[in-house]
Parts: sequence; C-alpha cells; structure tokens
Amino acid sequence: MNKTTFKYLLSKIPKTEIHLHSEALISRETVFNILSRKYPKYQDFNEVEKLFDYKSLSEFIEVFLLIQSAFEKDSDFEQLFKNILPYLKRNGIVHAELFFSPSNFTRNGIEFENMIKVFLKEIELIKNKENIDIKIIIDVSRTFGIENAMRNLDAAIKCKSSDIIGIGLGGDEKKGPAKDYESVFKKAKEHGLHRVVHAGEDVDSYSIWDAIKYLEAERIGHGISAINDKELMVYLKEKKIPLEICPTSNVFTKGYIKEIEEHPIKKFYQKNVIVTLNTDDPVFFNVELLDEYWNLYTKLKFSMNDIKNIIINGFNSSFMSEEKKKEYIKEINILWSKYFKNYN
Ligand SMILES: [Zn+2]
Repeated sequence: MNKTTFKYLLSKIPKTEIHLHSEALISRETVFNILSRKYPKYQDFNEVEKLFDYKSLSEFIEVFLLIQSAFEKDSDFEQLFKNILPYLKRNGIVHAELFFSPSNFTRNGIEFENMIKVFLKEIELIKNKENIDIKIIIDVSRTFGIENAMRNLDAAIKCKSSDIIGIGLGGDEKKGPAKDYESVFKKAKEHGLHRVVHAGEDVDSYSIWDAIKYLEAERIGHGISAINDKELMVYLKEKKIPLEICPTSNVFTKGYIKEIEEHPIKKFYQKNVIVTLNTDDPVFFNVELLDEYWNLYTKLKFSMNDIKNIIINGFNSSFMSEEKKKEYIKEINILWSKYFKNYN
C-alpha cells in the first residue's frame, strides 16, 4: 500500500490521541503572528523557522515557553483552537485528551479562568458541530516547582468542569523529579481527577517507577526507558499501565533514540505492554498522527492488524466511558473489514 492510500483509508477509521499538547497545535503562521507582535526579532519569518531546530528536550521546552510567553489575549486562544480542529479532522481523531500547560500564561498575568472559559466554549462548539470529543488534562508542570503545580491543581478543581478530566506532569524531567509532586497528585486523586505523568522520556526507568509509586500514574507519557528494566516491563504488563508512545518526538529530543527505526515500541508491543500511538507536539516536530501510523507500518514493520490493535488500545487507554469505548471499537471493526480486508 502506498502512503497516499494508507493515509486516506486510515483517516476514515476513528482514532484517539491521548498525548497531545494543545499549544503544540498552533500553526507556524499563528506562531509568527503572535511572536512578531511581541518580539521585533521574529518579524522575520526565517527567525521563526529557526526556532524549530532543537537539539534536546531542554532546548525544545525553551522554545515552547517562548511561544507561550507571547500569548496576550483571549483571541490568541481562540486562534489556537482554529488550528486544533483541522488537525483532528484530517487525522480522523474522534476523541482527544489534550494537555494544557497554564503555568507560563498565568505567570505572564493571564487569568486561568479566562483561558479555560475560551477552551470550554471552543470544546463545546467542536462537540456540537463535528462530534469530536476534546477533554483537557492540566499539565501542572515540573518546571516551576511544587507551589506552582498546586496552584494549577487548585485552579483545575475550582473549574468543576466535566471537560477537565485530570492532571499531568510535564516539563523538564531532569529538573523536576516526579516524587516531589506526590502531594499534588494525592489531592488530585481525592478530587476524582485522572493522573498521567511524563516519565522515562529523557531519564532512566527510576523516573517511571517514581511516577507509579508516588503519583499513582494511570498512564505513562513516553516511558521508553522502561525497555532497559525487565522488572518494570513485567510490572507495566501485569498492571496494564499504558504507555503513550510518541516516536517522532523521541527522535527530536534524542533522549534514547536517534532514528525511528531504533524505537522500542515494537518490543513493548511484542512483550504485551499496552502501547498507544500519539504525536506529542505535531507542529513542533512536524508530524501528524497518520504519519506516525505510516512510520509504524513502513519503518517499524507493524502489520495492519497490529495497527488496528494499537488504535483500539488508544480507546481502551483513554478516559472515556466504557460504553463509548465499546461503541467505537465496534465501529472500527466494521470499517476495518470494509477498508482493510485485503491487508493483514
Ligand atoms: Zn508530552
């Protein structure tokens, strides 16, 4: 199957994306508009393009924070959603669990409630018009310390919205050990919020153990260093803790792999660790969800049947209701036999 056919047919299959940063769906044009307004240097589009050439996770996070620092008004967040919707539609994503990282915005004086109001309004519009579900996971962040993380959690709790389903721990893994955030995650659990943690993306497997033991993570973001820890591999499999795998992101940030072909996703899959496929930061890493599936098919030698299983893992690992999961999986099976019956 060639790439055009593959992507066209796969776009018809309902999919989830459960490790996706909302700010990373901003188009380069929007980045240019927002940055050039605040920083004269970025009135040159080439300077904006140069930003996207990172050599490490830390460098990438610096760019992420720079772009966030130029957001000034509600309409900037509305513009962000104008960029999010076409991405979801193009990739056939019917359910997205989107990270939103408020820390840098609130530090720049934008009220949490005002941003969330825009988010909830846009989510409602998309739900009604396109029947795509977007749920928000607040990234409390390990970059700005524990007090900031607790403030983010309290703001999320105060919103009392069913569209804000949980908290995540993102940011620089080297600078912010997961176990420091135990009290924040404990409180989130008491308030019925789901808990996911970026771990094992840039440091060894102890970070994943910490996320599980101290933060009771329900899913692990990336988790690729688990491949070097036999005991952890067995634990992830037995406890059915899904990994949110983002292959191209891992190549960009160069923590453990330099080429997609080296990615351990196939080994996780073969050892029955639950893997899901995601992009992390599409615009920043110049990749879309359908491209990542194409990478699995061509560079990592997954069969079409494996790909179907990974799509289904995405639904089963999401925080949607069990009833909805069943409906979607039934639909996938019907569509699969229509579009892919000649491919294994
Ligand atoms: Zn991430």
